[in-house]
Amino acid sequence: MVMSLSMSYEELLRRLREGLKKVKRVPKTQRIELPRPDVIWVGNRTILRNFIDYPKLLRRDPDKMLMYMAKKLATLATRDGERAVFVGRKDIQSIEAVINKYIRDAVVCPACGSWDTKLERVKRMTFIVCEACGARSPARVG
Ligand SMILES: [Zn+2]
Repeated sequence: MVMSLSMSYEELLRRLREGLKKVKRVPKTQRIELPRPDVIWVGNRTILRNFIDYPKLLRRDPDKMLMYMAKKLATLATRDGERAVFVGRKDIQSIEAVINKYIRDAVVCPACGSWDTKLERVKRMTFIVCEACGARSPARVG
């Protein structure tokens, strides 16, 4: 009884230490809370009602982000104020996947994983410039 108690205590300590290490490694800026896509369907249109939240939170140009999303969803999209309207019926999972892909392609610094980045266009190339580590990496937004 005592043995098993002390073992589980060791195990607990180990897990706690591992947990602490994990938390430490995550940069502060990586904890951007993104809302779930707020989607409605009207006819054969898909309306992302909280579209503007994403470029706002990610600090990106809304029109460029929308262009990217339309391209990845293989459809046409227009802005309607804060909403985005896509041609065709897209499910929430597809919209969410495209937003996550955009984050990987155009937001997260490949060198350090920070979300604290901006895009910089040099000639015909777009780069992710990291404000945390200073790395400049090609963005996959073309
Ligand atoms: Zn970085």
